[in-house]
Amino acid sequence: MAAAITVLGGGITGLSTAWYLAQRVPPTVAVRLIEGSSRLGGWMRTDQRHANGMQFIAERGPRTLRTGSSREASAVLELVDDLDLRSQVVTAPKHSAAARNRYIYYNGELNCMPSGLGSLITGLPPAVKCLPRGIWKDLSKAKNTPTDASDESIHDFISRRFGEEVDNNLASAVMHGIYAADTKALSARALLYPFWLADRTGKHGVIRGLRRVAKLSRARNAQFAVREAEEQLAVSRRRSANPEFWDAMDEASMYSFRDGIQTLSDGLANRLRSHANVEIITGQPATEARSGADNCAEIVLADGRVVRSQHVVNTLPLHRVRKLFEKSTSNALLDETPYASVAVVNVAFGKKDITPVDGFGYLIPRASAASSKALGTVFDSCTLPVQDGGAELSRLTVMLGGARFNELFGSPATASKDALEDAAVETLRGHLGLRSTPIDVDASIGEQCIPSYTVGYIDRLKAMHKWVQGQLGGRMSVVGAAYGGPAVPQCIIHARDLVHHHLNLDALDKPQNVTGLEEIISGFD
Ligand SMILES: Cc1cc2nc3c(=O)[nH]c(=O)nc-3n(C[C@H](O)[C@H](O)[C@H](O)COP(=O)(O)OP(=O)(O)OC[C@H]3O[C@@H](n4cnc5c(N)ncnc54)[C@H](O)[C@@H]3O)c2cc1C
Repeated sequence: MAAAITVLGGGITGLSTAWYLAQRVPPTVAVRLIEGSSRLGGWMRTDQRHANGMQFIAERGPRTLRTGSSREASAVLELVDDLDLRSQVVTAPKHSAAARNRYIYYNGELNCMPSGLGSLITGLPPAVKCLPRGIWKDLSKAKNTPTDASDESIHDFISRRFGEEVDNNLASAVMHGIYAADTKALSARALLYPFWLADRTGKHGVIRGLRRVAKLSRARNAQFAVREAEEQLAVSRRRSANPEFWDAMDEASMYSFRDGIQTLSDGLANRLRSHANVEIITGQPATEARSGADNCAEIVLADGRVVRSQHVVNTLPLHRVRKLFEKSTSNALLDETPYASVAVVNVAFGKKDITPVDGFGYLIPRASAASSKALGTVFDSCTLPVQDGGAELSRLTVMLGGARFNELFGSPATASKDALEDAAVETLRGHLGLRSTPIDVDASIGEQCIPSYTVGYIDRLKAMHKWVQGQLGGRMSVVGAAYGGPAVPQCIIHARDLVHHHLNLDALDKPQNVTGLEEIISGFD
């Protein structure tokens, strides 16, 4: 059999994995990407809308990418550079209102989050007043770490050290924004690891323990010093080749593309299609994964075809991975990870500057959840006005549902689009006082779109690592939103690390025994 490697899933993780593989595999190795639906990109999706003679974009999933000095932020920019998408990038500069102003809807009004020491002088808004009290509480309260459990919920952790208000007013809002999930279910160990560790290892609470954690993390990072130095050198070479692009990105706080974020997944798909040794199969969900003869892994497709390869990189959501291995034993990560469903309602008004405040948008904490069906609202036109293309309009996106989707709107599979659109318009009326009639309202439902890293996640991830080792004769790795962070840059860096640092692409005839989870897990030891 000719050498081949299969990538399951054509979302941003699968596309970037195939891209990095295509750059690195020997020319004799085929890279096959299998996507179940008819389109590539997964949750990365930009639609075109038309109203009042105007054409504009509506983001249905991710909308902006963060800049910064992290490895993952750099990895995405390098990808943008490689794909020659530099000229299509649009940015929110660091000094823009979108970069500085993020709000929390609390006590019936928008509370601007502090963005620096200046906020202490101008006074803290009501939602944030609990924060200095919480910090003082942690500094003055004796250690009260539970010794009988290896994890606890974010709500329990924050309430125990900083006071319940800090979670009810602030942390719950932030987690609604990232995970669309409730902090009473989410894992403190997985999502607030430095703080969780500071509490465990320090003698006097979280804040005093953070110094020790920073020391531990410097020691841990030392093992990656060579890799980081090489990566920085690669970026500085790119800087010399395209200084305008990299300088502009230094000034940016976040970015997307003129025609929307799908430019990135489309760019990857287009370049992959022209690669001699890449084959993309769409419209064919994988239905079974099994070990085959000749030391290969077999993926059975819906039409009965069997795709054989020496290694499989599986980027599917956990509930889909489970289905592929229905005939095998399972593990807790596959069986017990809930996914949040989110309705993304894109609303456009035929007027500029319609919001009462400028900023990125606002999030809704638990303290205000009783009076709201929304998780938060993004002010798209304020964040990236260039995407309006000079048209006289304001685009906003209301996110609804999350952990409460079924309770509020019924099953995501059958929820009424009209009810979601009405709820979004009602949210904008109630929260922002927007009384005029929108020119366009359109809801899309992301059923089971964001994995919830619930209490016990790290232990389940470790068990998943062992489980993956036992599948397909050591010929499968996993990567994607369910492992080590769902943000696009995290999906991309994990795909790149797998291909650049963990798989041995010159010895695919041997089982790789690389699960893709090694480095993520070791970060929690
Ligand atoms: C509403 C929303 C807003 C978000 N906002 C942001 C943001 O602003 N910034 C950010 O960084 N991140 C954001 N995220 C997170 C980020 O977009 C996702 O975590 C990321 O896109 C996941 O990519 P993926 O490739 O891992 O998974 P997916 O996008 O889920 O891709 C998996 C692919 O596998 C395919 N598939 C499923 N089953 C099979 C099968 N049996 N056989 C073959 N193929 C199959 C699917 O059709 C899909 O194309 C957001 C997510 C959502 C849902």
